[in-house]
Amino acid sequence: MDPLTKNQIADAFDGAGDLVVPDMARIDWSAHDYLGWVHPSGHIGYMLLVSPLTGDLRGVVLGRSKRSSDALRYQMCSLCHHVHRMDETAMFTLTVKGSRGRHLLGNVACKNLDCSLRIRNLVNPQSYMAETLYLEAKVWRMQKTLYRWLERANRL
Ligand SMILES: [Zn+2]
Repeated sequence: MDPLTKNQIADAFDGAGDLVVPDMARIDWSAHDYLGWVHPSGHIGYMLLVSPLTGDLRGVVLGRSKRSSDALRYQMCSLCHHVHRMDETAMFTLTVKGSRGRHLLGNVACKNLDCSLRIRNLVNPQSYMAETLYLEAKVWRMQKTLYRWLERANRL
């Protein structure tokens, strides 16, 4: 992603009441296909990306809930396919635009929405399922899933 200012981020989320913007100084923009972060309460996730349809910046607010994972020793992020061990994923839900909050589309993803860093092996521990796929293919797979999710929710 190209570097963004706080104001650009706020504009992309217009209408999101208590938007918490991440610490800008710590973001390596070149390592991100989308920027994701989590509200300190833990109940809200934020996703920022460039719409492939319009080229506009999109801010998306997601519901975030922990998964009861007693039976799940390994969990895979549906976006980046990183395989985690125990409690490192969360359920993220997106309301379908125009449904007045009645229709939700959920996806299991890395709990901190740091998929971009994970496919670049910048976060430890590394995936528990080694993949030989090269980076561009991982980015493409992640974006395909992400775009499809947002499109179904009328938010692309
Ligand atoms: Zn992920």
